[in-house]
Amino acid sequence: MKTIIAQCLFCGSIVIGLWALLLAHVHYNQDNLQLKETQEPRRARSLGENVYRQNHNSSEETLKQDTTNDKTDFSDPEFYKGFAQYGFNVIMSRRLGIQREVPDSRDKICHKKHYSFNLPTASIIICFHNEEFNTLLRTVSSVINLTPHHFLEEIILVDDMSDIDDLKEKLDYQLEFFRERIKLIRNKKREGLIRSRMIGASRASGDILVFLDSHCEVNRVWLEPLLDAIAKDHKMVVCPLIDVIDDVTLDYTAAPLVRGAFDWSLIFRWDNVFSYELEGPEGPSKPIRSPAMAGGIFAIDRHYFKELGQYDKDMDLWGGENVELSLRIWMCGGQLFIIPCSRVGHISKTQNFNNAALKKALSKNLLRVVHIWLDEYKDNFFLQRPSLKYVPYGNISERVELRKRLGCKSFQWYLDNVFPELEPFIYPDEKEWNEFH
Ligand code: UDP
Ligand code: MN
Repeated sequence: MKTIIAQCLFCGSIVIGLWALLLAHVHYNQDNLQLKETQEPRRARSLGENVYRQNHNSSEETLKQDTTNDKTDFSDPEFYKGFAQYGFNVIMSRRLGIQREVPDSRDKICHKKHYSFNLPTASIIICFHNEEFNTLLRTVSSVINLTPHHFLEEIILVDDMSDIDDLKEKLDYQLEFFRERIKLIRNKKREGLIRSRMIGASRASGDILVFLDSHCEVNRVWLEPLLDAIAKDHKMVVCPLIDVIDDVTLDYTAAPLVRGAFDWSLIFRWDNVFSYELEGPEGPSKPIRSPAMAGGIFAIDRHYFKELGQYDKDMDLWGGENVELSLRIWMCGGQLFIIPCSRVGHISKTQNFNNAALKKALSKNLLRVVHIWLDEYKDNFFLQRPSLKYVPYGNISERVELRKRLGCKSFQWYLDNVFPELEPFIYPDEKEWNEFH
């Protein structure tokens, strides 16, 4: 009997021991997982993503590309090097290669819409400066794969003086495979995205110009809703809803319904759409009236772009041109809408604002917007950016003349009719004073 009890005790202690080992193992793994999560680098989230987070609770299903098995190794120095150079996860981009399928992010109502076969044709203009090779090719391949060819006049690539080897012969060679209607223009000097887009536009022959960044992936039936809106009103400028391609995982996520806005420092931000704007049978597929556009992803009638004065060619490198064009569209008789049934994914890169040339260009460009378009509201900008008050911004007479020639309305009109939410700025001290008294 004693030996039986001893044997039972022995077996029991082995079973308990094994359980303890198993529990310890699971616990260790969980700890490790949490550690890994907290060690992930903090990264600047795009405004689109912020609004996305505000609008979606975590239980809601997100549309994700299947990259779950391809986790990034954050200890790999190549990851950080790539991030510093390109602003996103290059290892993942190489893994995805030059084409992939992205999930259909459109609302179901959009699936039921039908578009005429006789829409105008489009020239797709993509400017790039030192873009990562696979990312650029994914942009091009997505356009070729998801655009009906009778609407696609051409794809115009403008290389803004890139100096990366991949973007030289290797790019020429790769484009041979796509072959169809691609023009590649190489700038002889760095022009910046504003003049580069004008160079692309000057070579275009389609009815509609569609500008894309070089790190986009278009979605299903992306072009037809844009062409359809412009076909109905040639002074209508339209943007797709810009879906978010995560800069680390490169997962493609549907964006919420947003409109474009900015603050008194003229920096763009996304804004929520009023619920009453989504009422009616069209619901979430209804075009959204937008005070501003985010940047380089929009469609415009080619002749109207010219008539409206294209871009301000004296703006340099990057920034401010989106607010300038938005103000010009609204104040000079056009309209700007976001079309939610048209979806284009965009990698929200982390901009390198330590770059002095970029900072200088952005300041100059914003000053040109202020002095050409803001009328008596100029000081609201300088209250935000007092250091820019006496900074030179070049000659603006040509653009002031353009404003007169087009018979544009006042900034006050824009505030009253398009963007009343841009409240008159209260100087911080005064605001504080009001709060205390
Ligand atoms: N770009 C360019 N020349 C420049 C700066 C940018 O051709 O001097 C291109 C860039 O490669 C991208 C597009 O212009 O395709 C828009 O730039 P970015 O994505 O940096 O702007 P954001 O998305 O922040 O508006
Ligand atoms: Mn971009």
